[in-house]
Amino acid sequence: MSNENMAELLFPDVRQIPADIYSLYPPRNLSSSALVTRFAPSPTGSLNIGGLYATLISERLAHQSNGVFFLRIEDTDKKREVTGSIGNIIHSLSYFGIDFDEGPLLSGDEKGTYRPYKQSSRIQIYKVFIKHLVRNGLAYPCFCDADDLQKIRIRQQNLKIRTGYYGKWAKHRDISFQQAKEEILNGKPFVIRLKSLGSADRRITYHDLVKGPIELPENDQDIVIMKTDGLPTYHFAHAIDDHLMGTTHVIRGDEWLSSVPIHIQLFETLGFKIPEYGHIAPIMKQVGASKRKFSKRKDLDGTAEYYKEQGYPGLAISEYFMNLINSDFEEWRMANSHQSFRDFFIHTDKMNVSGALLDMNKLNDISKDVISKLTSKQVFDHLYTWSKEFDSELYSLIDKNKEYTVNILDIGRTMKKPRKDYAKWSDVKPMIAYFYDEWFEKDVLGDYKLPTNVSFNVAKEIVLGFSKTYRFNNEKDAWFHEIKELAGKLGFAKDMKQFKANPNHYKGHVGDVAMVIRVALTNRTTTPDLYDIMKVMGEKRVLARMQTFVGHSI
Ligand code: GLU
Repeated sequence: MSNENMAELLFPDVRQIPADIYSLYPPRNLSSSALVTRFAPSPTGSLNIGGLYATLISERLAHQSNGVFFLRIEDTDKKREVTGSIGNIIHSLSYFGIDFDEGPLLSGDEKGTYRPYKQSSRIQIYKVFIKHLVRNGLAYPCFCDADDLQKIRIRQQNLKIRTGYYGKWAKHRDISFQQAKEEILNGKPFVIRLKSLGSADRRITYHDLVKGPIELPENDQDIVIMKTDGLPTYHFAHAIDDHLMGTTHVIRGDEWLSSVPIHIQLFETLGFKIPEYGHIAPIMKQVGASKRKFSKRKDLDGTAEYYKEQGYPGLAISEYFMNLINSDFEEWRMANSHQSFRDFFIHTDKMNVSGALLDMNKLNDISKDVISKLTSKQVFDHLYTWSKEFDSELYSLIDKNKEYTVNILDIGRTMKKPRKDYAKWSDVKPMIAYFYDEWFEKDVLGDYKLPTNVSFNVAKEIVLGFSKTYRFNNEKDAWFHEIKELAGKLGFAKDMKQFKANPNHYKGHVGDVAMVIRVALTNRTTTPDLYDIMKVMGEKRVLARMQTFVGHSI
């Protein structure tokens, strides 16, 4: 009876009981092999790369088993909340192609029937369960303030024993109804604590999906489940939500491993089925010869946003992560180069137990591969969206020249072994800028970058000579024939063999002649195929650039 009174004293306005809540959140109607997973970030900043990695694993596990993957925002710690984080997280997930079936949307609305998916909107639900625990003598109000807790700690430290609120140190564990009533009448703030039946001398064992068998001491601390502001703690809220939302598998960073005894205790005390847990080691950063964890403050490349800003396609990141998740993905990818990575089944027990290393070279290779498989129109669309947000100069160049840009991007793309030149969208501008007249004109205000063995006067002769034979419709063979002829006429060897046999005889070789034409048209010494470039530039532009070159003073 006194527990009942205590429950009424603490929660006079809470009229529902757990059964009322269960009727609102019936079990999911899924096959027994379907997994229900979630990403449950606290909105305390931008998504980090490790969070994104864990989220892909959760999403894959759910969807490869025809289950459900949902997003839940764990925002009960209002002090740590950073405005804009929820939008940032939703944007990032969408950029990286991680689709959630249920959860908050950018519009402020939510999708899914287990709503609400923001913990701050579920306060009444938590209170029903907290009241239920108090009614059953499994939780109690604690009126200790910071000072009281400090006194307990000092006494424990003096006695050289474990600090904390447990066993006989749990001052209000057996608080009477009368005492609690007086404290409340005096306006004393209180938290609600769970009465732990655990003992630090006993150990719990469970099988971690990633780390295998795990043994940890039982939790004997009377943890806080509701704070003085009436909001639940993360530990408590997540247990209620994972149960009501039918989570079957929890994949998260291994910084949560030490909380497992508390979580198991909560699930058991509440009479809930315990989900399967998989704890993953953080992704490591290579620094020189050693590796270390990403630092939140120092490493810009530790955030998901960084990879978006740099312009890595979301798909490239997913493809790369698949390699980190299961190393046999690489072999599968080679045998199935055109299938979606989503056709590969991941297995948590094949994951690396120690931290996977983020290898930028490998990421770049994979990304180049991903981009090489896109059509020029697809590359254009990506570039357009990306530059609109991150590179206004590029955006204005390509916005004014849409069709031209698609043609530029098409160079080397349609052959059997397409060019693998871009790893990210920010790589593109420096490689194609010369195609645009505005950019080119500014560039050649400086000097042309000619090969050192050719003087500017000779170069002018080459370009002038070439401009006379240049026909837009010349086939490649005819075009190259003209260049060879020109080379011969101007004292250059027509081929390398000739040149090598007698280098002192010539001003240079046909390659130097082609190089001069390349520089006149692009002011670059390395470009894709010169013939292809001229085709895309078109006759007018090619002639204009040759004229500019010839008219350029030294
Ligand atoms: N809200 C917790 C976090 O910020 C989630 C931990 C969990 O996945 O259980 O990481």
